Amino acid sequence: MTAQHPRVAIVGRPNVGKSTLVNRIVGGRRAIVEERPGVTRDRKELVAEWNGRTFTVVDTGGWLPEGVDTSDPTALTRQVSKQAERAMGNADVVVLVVDGVVGIAEEDDRVARLLRTTDTPVLVAVNKVDDQRREADVWGFSRLGLGEPFPVSALHGRGSGDLLDAIVDALPAEVEEVVEEDDGIFSVAIVGRPNVGKSTLFNRLVGDERTVVHDLPGTTRDSIDTLVETEDGPLRFVDTAGMRRRAKIDEATEYYGLVRALESVDRSDAALLVIDATVGVTHQDQRLAERIDAAGTVVVIVLNKWDQITDPDERLQVQADVADRLAFLAYAPVLKISALTGKSVVRVLPALRQAEEAYHARIPTAALNRLIQEAQTQHPPPPVRRHRPRLLYAVQGASDPPTFTIFATHELPPTYVRYLERRLREAFDLGPTPIKLRIRRRSH
Ligand code: GDP
Ligand code: GDP
Repeated sequence: MTAQHPRVAIVGRPNVGKSTLVNRIVGGRRAIVEERPGVTRDRKELVAEWNGRTFTVVDTGGWLPEGVDTSDPTALTRQVSKQAERAMGNADVVVLVVDGVVGIAEEDDRVARLLRTTDTPVLVAVNKVDDQRREADVWGFSRLGLGEPFPVSALHGRGSGDLLDAIVDALPAEVEEVVEEDDGIFSVAIVGRPNVGKSTLFNRLVGDERTVVHDLPGTTRDSIDTLVETEDGPLRFVDTAGMRRRAKIDEATEYYGLVRALESVDRSDAALLVIDATVGVTHQDQRLAERIDAAGTVVVIVLNKWDQITDPDERLQVQADVADRLAFLAYAPVLKISALTGKSVVRVLPALRQAEEAYHARIPTAALNRLIQEAQTQHPPPPVRRHRPRLLYAVQGASDPPTFTIFATHELPPTYVRYLERRLREAFDLGPTPIKLRIRRRSH
């Protein structure tokens, strides 16, 4: 729900003028973006705008991991490459700030070497070039191998326009703004083939809540959403026109066709995929599930009409069928319910809420890295083409759904990536949400 602007990370040694430059770029704006829990507080993120483009500036200056001796200048300096690595993992543009008065320091060289390995665009800002005289020295910084350096004076503003032009040019192409109004209310699409029991389930869920229910116009033509006030806050059911008892009479059975179902999934934070347990998982169910998976939406699988399956063997068979045919949704909880009798329907909303929480989860970096190291110690990655990969560290680049980048010295086999995913899910209760895991290579 937070606007996702492209991210520009400012990295460099202490005292080169990063904070001054950030202030110059954001031009007195003071909007601190990151206030979500679990985010390292002392890494400042501010919103800036230039030539009509809005982006987030990440000032890594104040970022210090636990245990660093702040009175030791070399320890401080050593953190700079760490910051640069993190920036490479989750920024769209990196600006390396160097000191035009001091020249290239050893640490600048090291960071530059690191930054040369990334696909992320990197700009070099040579700061403290307060007047013309110093400009001649700037070209020496080309030696960093990161392209033409930009002379700036963060203090006086000199050259900052050119640097900003270059930053904006390097930003990824603008994604069309989402015009849909997002009221921040968790929204759920109930989807499934005709006759699986969607309407019955919807009326039960809404009826059981005994709360205010309004009809809201949805965004698609002639779609109606339903807002339900639950004990845990409001919940929006998407495209429910055909599910209300009265409306049902006039609706054709195919009212909720695949296309319509997919539209409502796209508009939702979560999908309740209803499957008729008496029929099992059909090809059409699989197609729908694949699309939900591709949309990256939270999903809870509902095996409905469970009252009809009484034979224990048959029960096992149906569950095995789900595990087998919907294997790619293995993370999704499977609820066995009867919408008709109401049995176990109470479990549906909590399952959705839990999935919602996992979807928004932000894992503290320290805890994430402890887990990664622990996973590696207990089960080291197998060698790939004579190299034994080593996991270096991990960052969570985004939530909704949780997206992680793991840095490793070599490629990891897919089975090992799945192992890491499983460990992450277990350790941080990410069970019901899709997660994204990216592996990036780094030499040391
Ligand atoms: P950081 O540690 O990299 O964030 O550096 P700061 O922004 O705190 O700046 C360190 C020192 O350099 C401060 O005393 C600033 O006033 C000074 N400084 C920053 N930019 C400039 C500049 O463009 N010219 C000059 N002469 N000094 C600058
Ligand atoms: P929709 O087309 O997916 O909205 O399905 P409906 O809610 O209209 O239900 C289709 C039929 O299945 C109706 O006759 C329902 O009474 C019946 N049905 C729905 N849920 C259950 C259930 O849990 N058990 C049984 N036995 N029948 C159900």
